[in-house]
Amino acid sequence: MATPQHAGLEGALDYCHGTALAPGQLVRVPLGRREVLGVVWASEELADAEGLKPVGTLLPLPPLDSAWRALVQFAAGYYQRGLGEFALAALPSSLQQATVEQLQRRLARPLPKAKARAQQEAAAESPALNAAQHAAVAAVVAQLDAPGTAKQPLLLWGVTGSGKTEVYLNAAERALERGGQVLVLVPEINLTPQLEARFAARFGAERIVTLHSGLTPALRLRHWLAAHSGQAQLVLGTRLAVLASLPRLALVVVDEEHDASFKAQDGARQSARDLAVLRAAQAQVPVLLGSATPSLESWHNAQTQRYQRLDLRERVNAAPMPRIRLLDVKQQVKPSGPGMAQPPIAPQLLQAIEERRARGEQSLLLLNRRGYAPVLQCGACAWKSGCPHCTAWRVFHKSDRTLRCHHCGFADPVPRRCPDCGNADIAPVGRGTERLAEQIAAWLPEARVLQLDADTTRAVGSLETALAKVHAGEVDVLVGTQMIAKGHDFRRVSLVAALNPDTMLFSSDFRAPERLFSLLLQAAGRAGRAGGGGEVWIQTGQPKHPLFQALTRQDYAGFTALQLEERQSAGLPPYASLALLRADAKDEAAGRDFLAACALAGEQLGAGDLMWYPPVPHPIAKVANQWRWQMLVESPQRAVLQRALKAWMPEVLRLARQHRGVLRWAVDVDPSGI
Ligand code: ADP
Ligand code: ZN
Ligand code: ZN
Repeated sequence: MATPQHAGLEGALDYCHGTALAPGQLVRVPLGRREVLGVVWASEELADAEGLKPVGTLLPLPPLDSAWRALVQFAAGYYQRGLGEFALAALPSSLQQATVEQLQRRLARPLPKAKARAQQEAAAESPALNAAQHAAVAAVVAQLDAPGTAKQPLLLWGVTGSGKTEVYLNAAERALERGGQVLVLVPEINLTPQLEARFAARFGAERIVTLHSGLTPALRLRHWLAAHSGQAQLVLGTRLAVLASLPRLALVVVDEEHDASFKAQDGARQSARDLAVLRAAQAQVPVLLGSATPSLESWHNAQTQRYQRLDLRERVNAAPMPRIRLLDVKQQVKPSGPGMAQPPIAPQLLQAIEERRARGEQSLLLLNRRGYAPVLQCGACAWKSGCPHCTAWRVFHKSDRTLRCHHCGFADPVPRRCPDCGNADIAPVGRGTERLAEQIAAWLPEARVLQLDADTTRAVGSLETALAKVHAGEVDVLVGTQMIAKGHDFRRVSLVAALNPDTMLFSSDFRAPERLFSLLLQAAGRAGRAGGGGEVWIQTGQPKHPLFQALTRQDYAGFTALQLEERQSAGLPPYASLALLRADAKDEAAGRDFLAACALAGEQLGAGDLMWYPPVPHPIAKVANQWRWQMLVESPQRAVLQRALKAWMPEVLRLARQHRGVLRWAVDVDPSGI
C-alpha cells in the first residue's frame, strides 16, 4: 500500500578523498554507523579537510554521465524531493550491497545469448511499411539525423492494429544503426514479454535488456549494468526504466503513453511519461509517444504545436474496426431467477455469446470489480460487511469464503449469522468477476469460462498459463477486470462486452471519463483482431451520454474536444497545474490540522496566481486505521506553481516537524486524480 512518505529536502553531504573524483562516480560513504551508496555530485580541492569523513569505497563502474545527473537534478526539484533521495531511488537497490568483485565480474560477463521465446521465432523481417507508417518513421529519422538541435516530441496516434509497434521497431532500428541506445517504456510488466519477443525477434535477444519490478534484485542489477556500460543497446521496461543510465541514448519510445501506470503512486510520485519527454528534450534526442487514445495532455500539446502529431488512421491490411453497440439497461425486462441481480445481463447479449461459442469464437466480458460481491448485507437489520479498519466495505470472496478488504487487506471467514442480530439470512449484494463467471457458466452450460483478474493470477506463472489457454482456444468466455482489456493480442476474440461502465462514469475523479473512454476503446481493440465481424457491447443506463455516443462512432477526437472544453471551463489540467499535499494519521483530525496550517502558510507566501484549497478527506477517508486528508494547490501556470512549491516546502517541513511521529505526509506534483 502506498503511504505518504517524505524524506525531506536535504542537499548533498560532504566527504573527502585523496584525489579529485569525477562527478557521477558511484561510491560508498559512511553515514552514521552504516555505509551507504552515494553519487559524487561535485568535487573541489580543499586546503583543509578537517571534520570531513573520507569516502569509503569507489565502485568500479563508469561515472553516471552529466545527462543522467541533469535529469535527476531537474526531476528531484520538480517533484519537490531531496536530490539524494531521488537519485538513490533511481539506482538498483543491490548496488548498495554488491561487492567490488561482484561488480567487476558482472561487468565482464556478457548478456545471455538468447532467450527461449526469442529463439523460437525466426528472425522477423520487417513488413513493407504503409505510407502512414513510412511517414512516421521518416519523422523520427529526420530528428535522428539532426543531432544537437532541439526536438519536437512526436505523438503517434493510431488505433489498435494500425501498426504502431512496427513504427517503434523501425525507428529503433534506425537509432541502433547510428550506434545509439534506445529506451522503450511500456505501462505494465504483463506487456513486456510480448513486446520483448517482438524486439528480440527483430534485433536479437542479446542486445536487449528489460527493467521492471518483476525482476529479481540480482537480475535488475545485471540489466542496469548492461545499460549503464552500453552493452545493452535496447532497454525495454516499465516506469522505473525511465531513469536507467543510458550513456548513448538516441531514441525514447513510450507505448500506450496515456496509461495511468506511468505515474508512480509512491516515492516521489513522478510521471515516467513526463520524465521521458523531459529526458529526450535535455538529451536532444527524439521521443515517440504512441497511443490509440492519447492523454488529454499530449493531445493538447499536439493541438498547440508543442508536439508533432503522426497519424495512423487505418488498421493494417484495412481490417475493419469492430462495431460498438449500446445496450440500454433501463429498457430491459428484468429477468427473474436466481442470481439475476442488477445490472442484468441482457438476454440478447447472452445469446450473442452463445452464438460466438458455437462458432468457435471467444467472448471477453469486462467487469470492473473483483471478488464475488462487493458487499454482504443482512436481510433483517442494517448490518453490512464493513471493514473495521477502513471506511470501506469488505468484498465477499466465495472461493475461500472470506470477507476481504481491498484497501488494507484485512480478511476473515464469512460469518454464518449476522454479527449484529443473529439472522442467518445474509446475502451478497451486487456482482464481481467471480460471481459473473459462475453465472455465465450456469446460464451457458456448454461454455468454458475463465476468470482472469488479480485474484486468479496471484501465483507466479498463473497469468501466463491462463493466457496460453486463451490463445490455444481452450476458453470460450473470458471474464475479467481491466487487466484483460490492455495490449493482449487475442486472435479468437470476436465479442467484447463491458457490463458496468457506468460506475466509472460517475466517479468524482476528473480523469474518470478520459480513462473510461480509453479503456473501452482499448477493449474494443481486442475484438475481431484477426478478421471482420468484431462486436463490442456496452451495457449502460446512460446510452445518450456524450461519452458513449462518441464511443459508438469511435470518435476519439470528438470526445477529446468535449473533454478539453470541460477541463478548460473547470480550470483543470491541461489548463491548470496541480499539486496535492497528502497527510495520514491515526488521529482523525491531525492530518486536517496539519494541512490547514500548511495551506495558511502557503497563502501567506503571496506567490502570485494560485489557489490554496482547504483540506478535504481522501475519497476513502480511513485506510488501515489511518485517516487520510489532502489539500490542493492550483495555478493556471506551471512555472508559478513550481516557484510557489519551492518556497512553500521549507514551511511544510517546519510544520511537519511539529507533528513528527504523529503523521506521514507527501507532496504529489501533477496528481493523477483529485
Ligand atoms: P499496433 O501496435 O498499432 O497494435 P502492430 O504494429 O502490432 O500494431 O501491427 C498489427 C499487426 O500487423 C502485427 O501483426 C504486425 O506485424 C502487422 N503489421 C504491421 N505493419 C504492417 C505492414 N505494413 N504490413 C503488413 N503487416 C503489418
Ligand atoms: Zn442482522
Ligand atoms: Zn480495510
